[in-house]
Amino acid sequence: MPEPDKAPRDEKRLTNEEIAYTLHEIGELLDIQGESVFRVQAYDRAATAIRNLARDVADIYDEGGLKALQTIPGVGKSTALKIVEMLQTGKSSRLEELRKSLPPSLVAMSEIPGIGPKKIKRLYDELGVATLEQLEGAAKAGRVRELRGMSAKTEENILKGIEAFRQHHERILLYDAYPVAERVVTELSSSAAVERVDPAGSLRRFKETIGDIDILASSRKAEEVMEKFATLPEVREVVARGPTKSSVRTRAGLQVDLRVVTPDQYGAALQYFTGSKAHNIHLRELAKKRNLKINEYGVFDVETDKRVAGATEEEVYAQLGLPWIPPTLREDKGEIEAAAEGRLPKLIQLEDVRGDLHVHTNWSDGSPKIDEVAEAAIELGYEYVAITDHGYKLGITGGLEPSELERQIKETEEVNRRYPRITILAGSEVSIDNEGKVDFDDDLLARLDIVNASIHAGFNQDRKQLTERTLAAIENPHVDIVCHPTGRLLGRRDAYDIDLDEVFKTAAKHKKVLELNAWPNRLDLKDDYLREAKSHGVRFAISTDSHRLEELHFMFYGIVTAQRGWLGPDDAINTLPLDELKRLLGIGDVG
Ligand SMILES: [Zn+2]
Ligand SMILES: [Zn+2]
Repeated sequence: MPEPDKAPRDEKRLTNEEIAYTLHEIGELLDIQGESVFRVQAYDRAATAIRNLARDVADIYDEGGLKALQTIPGVGKSTALKIVEMLQTGKSSRLEELRKSLPPSLVAMSEIPGIGPKKIKRLYDELGVATLEQLEGAAKAGRVRELRGMSAKTEENILKGIEAFRQHHERILLYDAYPVAERVVTELSSSAAVERVDPAGSLRRFKETIGDIDILASSRKAEEVMEKFATLPEVREVVARGPTKSSVRTRAGLQVDLRVVTPDQYGAALQYFTGSKAHNIHLRELAKKRNLKINEYGVFDVETDKRVAGATEEEVYAQLGLPWIPPTLREDKGEIEAAAEGRLPKLIQLEDVRGDLHVHTNWSDGSPKIDEVAEAAIELGYEYVAITDHGYKLGITGGLEPSELERQIKETEEVNRRYPRITILAGSEVSIDNEGKVDFDDDLLARLDIVNASIHAGFNQDRKQLTERTLAAIENPHVDIVCHPTGRLLGRRDAYDIDLDEVFKTAAKHKKVLELNAWPNRLDLKDDYLREAKSHGVRFAISTDSHRLEELHFMFYGIVTAQRGWLGPDDAINTLPLDELKRLLGIGDVG
């Protein structure tokens, strides 16, 4: 399975993502082998910590050796030794050993809901089932029920689990794919043979989840580009290699496809491979009306077969009488009509953001101190940042008791005095209980600059109750923003059942703000809902919900999602200058 790497090791230092993935895989295989939960979780904890580090593990090791590695949360001596081996050899002998005794495809199977590692091991030992497809076949053929303790019901659950797994796992989070695409683009663009290179496909449209990573390059020396691609540091395996198209699998298990075209075709190819399919079908219809034909090679005159455009996307759209359409809008949801009528929206940009209104600190379940948040926010060029730790009703995460919140408000004032370049807003993320009430009494809430309210429990309640809880929070005069309004977690939990139309109308009526939570597996409200809410007149807080300093950068994922929801800079409140934001939130008002 793993391909031996022939290039010198020091040029192929493993990234944090690759190290994290290796540790994760070791943990999963140990789990299937029946290792103690404690040890399995230790690997998972270390993997998560490494994935979230702001610095490269390789650099940490270079500077401080084995000892420094052990300062990473969750990394003890034995894990640190494994990391050193990975850095020095690019491999983990523990993983290789485990892979010899158990096929790695069992790791993917262990993520199927409802089938634990023990069952997977037995299905493997007793039926030889090693892949998802084999498991599906065995369950359909009624072979699983022959095993002791398993039944037709088990088979039914397995098939249901496989279906749910496929729905969630055949697409990867934009957040997991985008950095890989960015690195590949950067590395390819350093080749003299490459003239232009861009991501294409759903990744360029910044969809919240994507299939494979598509990269497009223009070159007159395609063969050289292919060679460079096949030998990139992240490549574990070349899946297919042709003269103008290749596919590789990265160390983290993602598939990346590269296509190389000639410079005169680049715009047409980029347009074509960016999609979406629906957008492109609509464009083809427009072309037909103009006696033109449009494909990945260019725009052609149907009668003469002469190529009239293709080098840039702009000239492709211009041939159809359209201005260039931003990729985030290319879903055939009215953007072509809007472009034709000269009313494409002015989209919000990352540079428009002046602050972050949902940040956790070490007062609750976050890691940074308030002054560290202040410094990071200054570095990002922000004018303001809101500290919004959890209230005490959310028992599990060490939420703040009223007296603690009072002390935190004082500390916020003190930090504000020390950092005149930024305004720290004193806030809270209160939980909405089953009756729609929130943490803290009115007096304390009134002392806060900003109150974020969220549903954190009771996701399985019926539509009526969930809607009523949310409406009660919106109608609460102390609540400013309702956060992650549908509660979904991409790949893990669907949106709860709630009457969003009612929520949007009520928010608009009470001039309350809804959150676009920029956390990469939330992105909640999602693109279509943003657009719908906007049509009701709702405004949004695009906030990161950071629990660590490096997560303040999640703002990027919020902004691209906002663009997909057709939001402009005026639709968000955290693009406002501080004085306007204060007016909107009623800060400084008496009573
Ligand atoms: Zn929350
Ligand atoms: Zn939060």
